Amino acid sequence: MTLETPPSLTLLMTLLAGLAVGAALGLWLGRRSPASAPPEPDYHSQLETLTRAQEASEQANGELRQALDQLEHAAGTDRLTGAWNRRRFEDGALLLISLASRRGDPLSLILFDLDRFKKVNDTFGHGVGDAVLKSVAGTVRDQLRASDALVRWGGEEFVVLCPATTLAGATILAEKIRQAVEARSIPQVGMVTISLGVAHHQKAEALDAWVARADGALYRAKERGRNRTEASLEMVETHEDETPSVLALIWDPALECGNPEIDHQHQQLYHLSNSLLTSITSGRYPEEAKLQMQLLIAHVAQHFHDEEAILARTGYPELALHAKEHNRLIAKAKVLQKDMGGVSTDLPTLLTFLALDLVKGHLMAWDRRFFKHLANP
Ligand code: GH3
Ligand code: MG
Ligand code: MG
Repeated sequence: MTLETPPSLTLLMTLLAGLAVGAALGLWLGRRSPASAPPEPDYHSQLETLTRAQEASEQANGELRQALDQLEHAAGTDRLTGAWNRRRFEDGALLLISLASRRGDPLSLILFDLDRFKKVNDTFGHGVGDAVLKSVAGTVRDQLRASDALVRWGGEEFVVLCPATTLAGATILAEKIRQAVEARSIPQVGMVTISLGVAHHQKAEALDAWVARADGALYRAKERGRNRTEASLEMVETHEDETPSVLALIWDPALECGNPEIDHQHQQLYHLSNSLLTSITSGRYPEEAKLQMQLLIAHVAQHFHDEEAILARTGYPELALHAKEHNRLIAKAKVLQKDMGGVSTDLPTLLTFLALDLVKGHLMAWDRRFFKHLANP
């Protein structure tokens, strides 16, 4: 914020300049005709008075500037990092929610938290800790679009508000942010990492419920080892204006194996497949389909990994064979992803993969083989 010189100060300066010229003129005149000079006013004491007045005005001006700075900060900016504060976030987010709902635009947020930050403070002191927060905020800001907002959520926790961004887009951004922070070495401290949770705003969802879903995803990221990104895939409510694709895969409760984690991930897989199909068939966001595919593959890879861990824990005898089939599917998905030009997506090939390979071939056939084993391990 810049401050104009106040009119009172300008007036004072003009007066001072006038007095100085007057004093010089008076001295010069006095030297020229000492006899006819009128009684000399006390310029010196007048100058002193005016100087004191100017000093007082400058001090008042400084105080005013400080007060205005404070007001500006109180109105919406965090002093340490320059990020939005929570109050400004709430106003901005509510506005974006109403805009996004009206126009049917996507809207996402990323909640992130520094990993093991207490240790940084304990080892290097609070001052260095503050410098780390400032540096991380700067690194994150470098990754954002002008329309994204960085918010200091509190302590060592931040939010990135991403208008016009789908869940897939925000997840890719979160990964970019995570990698940028990890790659940067901070003087004295070295590498710091962050964990991130991503959530896409769902129709009619309250602000705090939306943030709570991002928080749940962040919690998972911490639990799964930190320095990683997790997305909230829960379906709060179906978008009324987002007609499900006629090709949508419908979840069948008979596909539940009884292990809550596997069942949850299988349902998420359906949800992600449907989002991908919807975004391809609606053709609204050309880049979205590619990102959805990336997200789906990341989810499938994570799911296969977790499923194998569960099967290993329970001593599933066919684990090696099952894992081999997982690898084959991932490899096939990656080939498909490479072939996807976004706009010129080969829908039949993709559908065949999702419906026949992943769902019918794998979930309905391969996975059923361990149902009995999980029921009686
Ligand atoms: P985790 O990976 O689980 O997030 O571990 P953590 O140590 O980061 O988490 P924890 O919540 O235990 O500690 C957060 C620390 O962040 C504790 C607090 O001293 C520090 N912190 C919060 N706000 C500030 C701040 O403004 N400046 C500094 N220097 N430290 C802060
Ligand atoms: Mg932390
Ligand atoms: Mg499987």
